[in-house]
Amino acid sequence: MTVQTLSVVVPVYNEVESLDRFVTELMETLQADSMAAYQSKVFLVDDGSTDGSVELERQLQKTWDGQLEVIELSRNFGKSAALRAGFDYSDSELVVTFDADGQDVPAELPRLLAALDEQGVDLMCGWRQTRIDRSVKRRTSKIYNWVTRKGSGLDLHDFNTGLKLLTRELVDALPLYGEFHRYVPVLAYDLGFRVGEIAVEHRPRTAGVSKYMSLSRFPKTFLDLFTVLFLTKFSNSPMYLFGGLGVALGGLGFVILSWLTFVKLVLGEGIGQRPLLMFGMLLTLVGLQLFMTGLLGDALRLSQASSRPTYRVRSSTLKA
Ligand code: UDP
Ligand code: MG
Repeated sequence: MTVQTLSVVVPVYNEVESLDRFVTELMETLQADSMAAYQSKVFLVDDGSTDGSVELERQLQKTWDGQLEVIELSRNFGKSAALRAGFDYSDSELVVTFDADGQDVPAELPRLLAALDEQGVDLMCGWRQTRIDRSVKRRTSKIYNWVTRKGSGLDLHDFNTGLKLLTRELVDALPLYGEFHRYVPVLAYDLGFRVGEIAVEHRPRTAGVSKYMSLSRFPKTFLDLFTVLFLTKFSNSPMYLFGGLGVALGGLGFVILSWLTFVKLVLGEGIGQRPLLMFGMLLTLVGLQLFMTGLLGDALRLSQASSRPTYRVRSSTLKA
């Protein structure tokens, strides 16, 4: 039997009420017979908790010495940064992420592992088919998932589940900052990785509070979506977006100004009082600016060409 290494990365931000129970349940799963083919280690990444979670984590580390590590971030950096830290500190072949609040069910892990293998993908997402959250959250999540699906072209039900299983190759390639953890499947798909999904059980939060309650989260999420879609669709050539828009708007401006020139010179009418003159000038200028922005974007892209791979090879008859 080949044994694979597996890291369990758990971001923790003020979860003192749920953490103990969650870790106990997680450890039970990891030690079950169905997990015998995996050598696993848990990474609790504390994201600047102030409620005593840190003390609890240290205690848990002593209880599960050798099987559980604690990484304390110096302040609250957000879930994406916490996940990235866990990814960076682990070096296993597979990585699975869980929320610390107990909403994700550890016992689903073996099914996730089997599905990753069967479907031959690099990312296996848990799909919270019967999602148990407040109705406003379920509704906003529905809209968000729909927009992300349409925007990215990736056909998933649930983009922002806490429960995800990733291969090391994907983990190493993922840019994670801001609130990008919501877009891990989109980023993975864009980088050329295969993405799969299976329905998993989802439970209500039994203790503590959601860290994403405020209404300001909703517009922020969508602004992030624009960023991600821009990065995945246009970062290779900003010129296509900005230059394209610039040419369209500037072209319209040019047509308008040409027409007005004709009116003035050939028809001999005054054009100084016509609002169309303003409009034409505005369009021409905005178009020019956008075109220049596209050029700048492409120049930036060129100077950073090494930071983002331009392709990914799945397999080759040549040895790298
Ligand atoms: N979390 C984090 N940093 C933050 C916010 C949240 O590490 O700034 C963790 C949190 O402790 C939990 C997971 O991210 O383990 C998901 O958070 P939460 O359950 O509040 O999100 P929800 O399920 O309500 O979307
Ligand atoms: Mg939660």
